Amino acid sequence: MADYVVRCRVCGRTYGRGYRFFRCLCGGVLEVLVDLEGVSWGVDEGALGIFRYSALLPSLSRYVSLGEGRTPTIKRVVDGVEVYFKLEYLNPTGSFKDRGSALAVSKASELGVTEVLEDSSGNTGISIAAYAAYAGIKARIYVPSDIPVGKYVLIKSFGAEVIKAGSRDEASRQVLRDLSEGNYYIGHTWNPYFIEGTKTIAFEVYEDLRSVDYVITPVASGTLLLGFWKGFNELLKLGLITSIPKLVGVQACGYDSLSRFVGRVVRSECREGTVLADAIRLTNAPRLPYIAEAIVRSGGYLVVVNDDLIVDALKDLFRMGFTVEPTSAAAYAAFKLVRKELSGKVLIPLTGSGLKYVGGTESPLYKVFVGG
Ligand SMILES: [Zn+2]
Repeated sequence: MADYVVRCRVCGRTYGRGYRFFRCLCGGVLEVLVDLEGVSWGVDEGALGIFRYSALLPSLSRYVSLGEGRTPTIKRVVDGVEVYFKLEYLNPTGSFKDRGSALAVSKASELGVTEVLEDSSGNTGISIAAYAAYAGIKARIYVPSDIPVGKYVLIKSFGAEVIKAGSRDEASRQVLRDLSEGNYYIGHTWNPYFIEGTKTIAFEVYEDLRSVDYVITPVASGTLLLGFWKGFNELLKLGLITSIPKLVGVQACGYDSLSRFVGRVVRSECREGTVLADAIRLTNAPRLPYIAEAIVRSGGYLVVVNDDLIVDALKDLFRMGFTVEPTSAAAYAAFKLVRKELSGKVLIPLTGSGLKYVGGTESPLYKVFVGG
């Protein structure tokens, strides 16, 4: 495992591995800087989950893994474009978040914390609750009041305390008010270790495909897009790839917080805010400027999609056999909107599982596929 420091993106101050506050003392977001000097690519086939890539991960005294990562990639040619769907919904709790949770909960365990606090639209809450349960750590999860029932039930099933806090943005504010000496804010929107976990998706793309030309991914707090950015940059530094794929961020109507930071925005018509893409209904992500920087520096852009396009894309994906949640379909909707300008290999991570949405007549999948 690699040496590292934690550094503030705003003031540049650095902290050692024992630092446990979620942000810099100046208020800035933190990042983990892994020392790649003398490090070479290598996969530990005997290790579980993302810890196969431990040579490139920050050194930790404990690993908490439920077997995340190593998700299949399926190629489909769509209108002449090679699309590679990476089935992130097959992770242990049904979303890519498990990559981040594995590392963030491992770090929490190393720090000896007894209770973690997290705010989430659902997927990260489920994931943190599961990994915390496995590590023997209490979890308290702040969620929007209109969280899909399947997601709510799963968080409760892992034994976490659940606080319904109004909107997604209100959940972010309330969790910060409840921080105390006795608990640890593991919040993925801030946590620098979380992105060290999600960066492993780029390593898997390298293992499976060597490189791709585009990555099209939904963005809320940006943990997946920043994971791709960090992972590909590390592969570039190690001399394993020669260029970084263009990162195309996808947001939904009413929640296009990146619009003011990204130069090029491709928009569908927005009459109202998204209801379907519940996993990306966040407007106050702390890392917004850095997500935008990654998109712009990669040569990518932002696409904003409406619910009509998401419904069409969702139907397409199920017709192809993919059990996805509506937010995953946002990325495919964006692909369909811009496909005429794409060439080469396009990677679309299918971020979350549709199995979390099958309960009740209020479920968006019920409404789209059954009726009512
Ligand atoms: Zn700072």
